[in-house]
Amino acid sequence: MLRVGGLTRLSANDYPGKLAAVVHCQGCAWRCGYCHNPHLRPARGSHEIPWRDVRAFLARRRGLLDAVVFSGGEPTQQPGLASAMREVRALGYLVGLHTAGIVPRRLVEVLPLVDWVAMDVKAPFGEHERVTGARGSARRAQMSRDLVLASGVASEFHTISRADSPPGRAPA
Ligand code: SF4
Repeated sequence: MLRVGGLTRLSANDYPGKLAAVVHCQGCAWRCGYCHNPHLRPARGSHEIPWRDVRAFLARRRGLLDAVVFSGGEPTQQPGLASAMREVRALGYLVGLHTAGIVPRRLVEVLPLVDWVAMDVKAPFGEHERVTGARGSARRAQMSRDLVLASGVASEFHTISRADSPPGRAPA
């Protein structure tokens, strides 16, 4: 079952040209120095929303919203992501995904269920581990980039420039 740390009920900015709800998945293994959602990093959150409540909300919004975007934290860390996406598709929604590419093998599983994906590349690959504080993060991000590009799914890649990037923690 998907662990949800927050829900944006209406967004015009998170899926190109569509009105969307944004499901903020709980949990992220990386520790970027500039993270704007530190409350979503722990595996369990203090204000989690049961997935059945999110699903019920989405059922009530059919015809009013176009898309559901799975965002973070990091959605690909959750084994229940594909199942949740299938339920959202069954309700008639487009499915969006925001990811930093942390778990490439889960991307393989979910990309066939996704209509649009935005991948955040957290730093130049040579500095990636310093910024994310996670050993091996550059390799994972490169694998995920390649998977997204090979999938043919509509995609965007977001980056942060070196000048904008504050110092991250040293890799563990
Ligand atoms: S990958 Fe995203 S959610 Fe995770 S620490 Fe970095 S900025 Fe925060």
